[in-house]
Amino acid sequence: MRSLVAEFGERVRAGDPLAPLTTFQIGGLAALRLDVASDAELARALAVAHAHGVSPTILGGGSNVLVGDDGVAGLVLRVRTHRIDDEGEGRVRVSAGVTINGLVRWLVGRGYRGLEAWAGTPGTMGGAICGNAHFRGALIGDLVSSVRLLTPRGQFVDVARDDMAFGYDASRVQGSGDVVVSAVVIAEPGDDPARLRDIVRTSLSFRKATQPLHLPSAGCIFRNPDRERDGVPAGVPCSAGALIDRVGLKGAASGGARISPVHANFFVNEGGARAADVLALIDRARTAVHERFGVELREEIVRLGC
Ligand SMILES: Cc1cc2nc3c(=O)[nH]c(=O)nc-3n(C[C@H](O)[C@H](O)[C@H](O)COP(=O)(O)OP(=O)(O)OC[C@H]3O[C@@H](n4cnc5c(N)ncnc54)[C@H](O)[C@@H]3O)c2cc1C
Repeated sequence: MRSLVAEFGERVRAGDPLAPLTTFQIGGLAALRLDVASDAELARALAVAHAHGVSPTILGGGSNVLVGDDGVAGLVLRVRTHRIDDEGEGRVRVSAGVTINGLVRWLVGRGYRGLEAWAGTPGTMGGAICGNAHFRGALIGDLVSSVRLLTPRGQFVDVARDDMAFGYDASRVQGSGDVVVSAVVIAEPGDDPARLRDIVRTSLSFRKATQPLHLPSAGCIFRNPDRERDGVPAGVPCSAGALIDRVGLKGAASGGARISPVHANFFVNEGGARAADVLALIDRARTAVHERFGVELREEIVRLGC
């Protein structure tokens, strides 16, 4: 895409490794990769891509994706926007590229209550909105009042929370070609930063105790099944990790990937894992859980190029 290079020069990288840009540390090359640092740059890059009939792959913090071993064709746009603006009355506008952890630090330091329990969640606001990230029953969609999107036609639109089609691991962004530009977060001012920091510490300790944070992963591989919709039998927990554990696959390995002995819904990269190794484990876990419990596990991670 010569016009992309004309517009952004050497910032457009050809044949660029994606593994270092993901928390799984797995995957091949992006045919083209560009980091955008402002909303205007994002709009320009999308306009050029769409003018060439290319639907770019959007990447945030790379903490919920599995990149294929053959990489990603076309253009990967990484959203690296960093603005946080206090709009008053408990409303804070946050760019899509701001990390959840960066936002938690910003809010807690100013005594804003609302997101402190999310400390330790990797990734960006854009990725969190796209998948409606969840933590211990809370959904990120419940913490925003509106989301600014850039549509495939290049229009900025502000969408109220109720029109975002937020559900478990779902939002209207998925499959629409819309890109999250920013979101207005609801944060209650006037709290004590020291009290909020205690909540941050408790959350971080909980994660450390329950997740294999010492090895690269993409967080939970599967969504937790729903008892009604997925037909989870009575007496069987609605937890993908518990189901994988019950079929005896906790600790199972394929190449450099392993189903974590700490948390069976986390698959870890023990060194040199390939996407094919992870896909083999996904297949094994899904088949075993289906045969034993009749439950079809659905993936939470987003596959890019595989
Ligand atoms: C150790 C660990 C713990 C985790 N714990 C949790 C947890 O408690 N709860 C939870 O929900 N998740 C958890 N995750 C998964 C992950 O942190 C979240 O899903 C996070 O919100 C993903 O954000 P991201 O920026 O990394 O998205 P990416 O992985 O970069 O992308 C994920 C999807 O979002 C899309 N996307 C990214 N940015 C945008 C944008 N600006 N506009 C439109 N689409 C976009 C991508 O195209 C892709 O489809 C965990 C992951 C790890 C590694």
